[in-house]
Amino acid sequence: MFAELAINVEVPLEGTFHYDVPRDLAAKLQVGQLVEVEFGRRLAQGIVIAFVEEAPVEETKPIIALIDEVPVVRPWQIKLAQWMSEAYLTPLNACLRLMLPPGLTRWADVVVDLNPRWDGNGRLTDTQKQLVELLREKGDLRGRQINRLLGAKSNWKTAVNQLAQRDIVRKATVLDPPRIRPKQVRTAELIASEQRIWQVVAQLGKRSKKADVVQFLAQSKDPLPEETAVLAVTGASESHLAALEADHLISRTPAQTIAIPLADPSDVDPTLRPLFTQLPAPLPTPHAPPWDDLIAQNQIHLLPEPATVGLAVPPKQVLAELFALRGAQTYWRLLHMLQQAAQPVEISQLYAEAGANLNHLKKLVKLDLIRLGDQEVWRDPLADRDFVPAEPPPLTRDQARVWGRLKVGMIETQDAFARDGAEGGEGAAPPVLLHGVTGSGKTEIYMRAIDFALRSGQQAMVLVPEIALTPQTVRRFAARFPGRVAVMHSRLSDGERYDTWRRARQGLFDIVVGPRSALFMPFANLGVIVLDEEHDPSYKQTPPVPAPYYHAREVAMAAGRVTGATVIMGSATPDVVTYHLARGGRYQLLELPKRVMGHRQRIEGQALRLQIESAYRQTAVDPDDALTIPLPPIQVVDLRHELRAGNRSIFSRALEKALTETLDRGEQAILFLNRRGTATFVICRDCGHVLTCPRCDMPLTYHRPRMLLACHHCGRQEPPHSDCPQCGSKRIRYFGLGTEKVEEEVQQRWPNARITRWDTDTTAGRDTHETLLASFINQEADVLVGTQMIAKGLDLPLVTLVGVISADVSLGLPDYRTGERAFQLLAQVAGRAGRGLLGGRVIIQTYQPEHYAVRAAAEHDYASFYIDEIRFRTQHSLPPFRRMAKLVLVDPVNERGKFAAEQLARGLRQHVREKALSATEVLGPTPPFFSRVDGRFRWQILLRTPNPTRLLSDFPIPHPWQVDIDPVSIL
Ligand code: ADP
Ligand code: ZN
Ligand code: ZN
Repeated sequence: MFAELAINVEVPLEGTFHYDVPRDLAAKLQVGQLVEVEFGRRLAQGIVIAFVEEAPVEETKPIIALIDEVPVVRPWQIKLAQWMSEAYLTPLNACLRLMLPPGLTRWADVVVDLNPRWDGNGRLTDTQKQLVELLREKGDLRGRQINRLLGAKSNWKTAVNQLAQRDIVRKATVLDPPRIRPKQVRTAELIASEQRIWQVVAQLGKRSKKADVVQFLAQSKDPLPEETAVLAVTGASESHLAALEADHLISRTPAQTIAIPLADPSDVDPTLRPLFTQLPAPLPTPHAPPWDDLIAQNQIHLLPEPATVGLAVPPKQVLAELFALRGAQTYWRLLHMLQQAAQPVEISQLYAEAGANLNHLKKLVKLDLIRLGDQEVWRDPLADRDFVPAEPPPLTRDQARVWGRLKVGMIETQDAFARDGAEGGEGAAPPVLLHGVTGSGKTEIYMRAIDFALRSGQQAMVLVPEIALTPQTVRRFAARFPGRVAVMHSRLSDGERYDTWRRARQGLFDIVVGPRSALFMPFANLGVIVLDEEHDPSYKQTPPVPAPYYHAREVAMAAGRVTGATVIMGSATPDVVTYHLARGGRYQLLELPKRVMGHRQRIEGQALRLQIESAYRQTAVDPDDALTIPLPPIQVVDLRHELRAGNRSIFSRALEKALTETLDRGEQAILFLNRRGTATFVICRDCGHVLTCPRCDMPLTYHRPRMLLACHHCGRQEPPHSDCPQCGSKRIRYFGLGTEKVEEEVQQRWPNARITRWDTDTTAGRDTHETLLASFINQEADVLVGTQMIAKGLDLPLVTLVGVISADVSLGLPDYRTGERAFQLLAQVAGRAGRGLLGGRVIIQTYQPEHYAVRAAAEHDYASFYIDEIRFRTQHSLPPFRRMAKLVLVDPVNERGKFAAEQLARGLRQHVREKALSATEVLGPTPPFFSRVDGRFRWQILLRTPNPTRLLSDFPIPHPWQVDIDPVSIL
């Protein structure tokens, strides 16, 4: 029998290799296992892909050893890798590598034990003797242990090998067990009700009669009990009451006599009548003649009222006062913090903020008030101040409709796969596109689907574009599914990645939240894959990361096909191709109508914390927990008018006014600029016309050194224009503006405003995302100036104004997706303002107010954007009507790159002619928009064709060209 192996080495290797399966391994060997083999002249690891009866080559080497009994990839992962290998024209071993933790080789170790059948004879060297002694004494040992005991210099490795050859010891390879535990922190969580806290206050502090009085009053049914009763029950004395009154904790009403009118006012002596008509009232002490007269004439009745006591503090504060009176403030601070957090809080934070120590916590544990626990470290600037519902809230009407249909699909798919095993494609429901604006409740739907999968014994993957920017989402999953979530992010070390992978393989968690690489968790029984913000370009693997240049969306769907997992893509602004396919029935389109929503407790918590009135309201049809807020109004400002009105500043009059007002009200604003703000496209400042390529309708870009306007799509070049081809104006502007410049201008115009700048430059450090965000949330800044990064982000409750400095920058990029990206960005940026507690507004400045992407974004109208965009795509045979492939060559020598590129393009054109591929076009070669990266020159060829994979498997592209199928950007 032979095993077909993929070799796990750094370099991509075409094809698989066949090895002989030795008899002693035959019974143990399984598909997916990691084995040791000789590859060429050296030892390497291989992954068993399949077993075959006959090898296609004459001579095969044997498999040397099995490295780990537990397979390192699952059968579905092998199928997925094979699919990727074909779809992205990338060798199988490169695809399989994605499914293994980085540097798997490093985690392998040997185990050595003494052969029990060894008779003890034979001569041994000193090291060999030492080794044998050790094994006798300690039993089997790991390589790392031997290393520790004998030292690296002892040459024990050679000794092991020599002894193994003589059958004196036996040697096997294993993968290390996880060593680094996921970073955990100790947490405390409140588990007691408020009532329980009342019960135990007395046990948490000193004895105090004063406290007894306050507690009695707080719990008394009668709000004004008699003083004598209070004193009797509590054992307190008059002086305690006096002290409490002096501290304004209680109010006392002394014993008094009430005069109640008995007579008819007309019978009363006219001089006394004014007094009489005010009765009943307390009788002044000591009372004087007029009263005596009334009493004497039996015109009033005297009612003695005993002295009473009442609370003088609002009910919400009583508990705090009680703790204070008992000298137990620390306990109160602890309990109060935990109560506010409504979720586990890091102990170190409790120590710091409550001035507490471990003894305090222990006491609370003993009284069953709190629970201590461990939690994986997840830094989140909002962690302890923002409510996250742990229990699923009742669904809104729209959510219920969507979830109903989704659930039916999940059941159909589960049934289809249960019936037909792994081949259960037949009858499975299609992937789902969940289209709904930010805050329309999509995450809630994801969680329902995941809950459903988990209950069926399945696992779930949740893909998010950038974890550092979605801490709140992560926290919601962790709160809803405590102990079952693992988070993957770019800051994990190799060791942490290895551990996460090991834990997934052992089934120690069921949900992974992470970037595109989370797709490769070795789950046993995958039930659902969620792609949040499915349109996000970060889902595509792109150079300089090695091939395959896969798209997580496509891979997720392939994974769904081989595992039976339901794929849910969610977005407020779906990729035009995705939406097109959904409308055509390839995906199930589920929509959550346009509205923005928040959980009642969270909104009220925020409002209380910030002491503002929230603009969220309850709607009639939905459950009590869901509050909604209308989408923010968007104003589009035509920068051409500003110019004509003599305003040359980067702030239009409207934005200037709005920002001034916002700052005056003590609210916050975000000013947004595209990251590629330095892009140099060419725009007419009078009519807003953007110079475009007559062949492609793509914006032309200006190249300073060569003084040329170039189309990066087709390679066309023209000399720079001195006047506008549309209106003849001479005011042509070569656009370019960075965040620094914006920051500067804000500072100049509003010297008192505190500004935070957030872009790739300022967030180069490790933790700065969190730090910047936290400082903005803490209101340490009034204005956030940032790039598209902030478009993702969080709900910032005090942000009431979002200004887009220039929508044109995103529209000016020479990429066919520029309209789509602009729409997505504007829609998302606008969403930042829309979810603040105070509502908000958006101002978009642009030279092209009539551009369909700007117009549609201003109306929150995805549908109308889609119609215009799809028309543009049809006209130019762009995706989804034709697919694309991007071929890029990087060469330090420009001329050489150009020559090679021209040669390849010629070859491709000839191939297209010979095969009469009429729907296929070869564009270029041309230097792309980013024509120099790291000092090296790039040349690019674009293919527009119905099926790039088929085209390129007939015409293999030589190394070292990068082949990007369905690129997300052609810049
Ligand atoms: P999206 O994922 O579309 O941005 P979310 O699921 O995050 O929307 O919902 C937005 C807010 O509304 C969140 O604060 C969430 O807790 C809350 N929410 C969602 N569904 C409900 C519901 N049925 N009842 C109460 N609050 C809800
Ligand atoms: Zn013009
Ligand atoms: Zn062109």
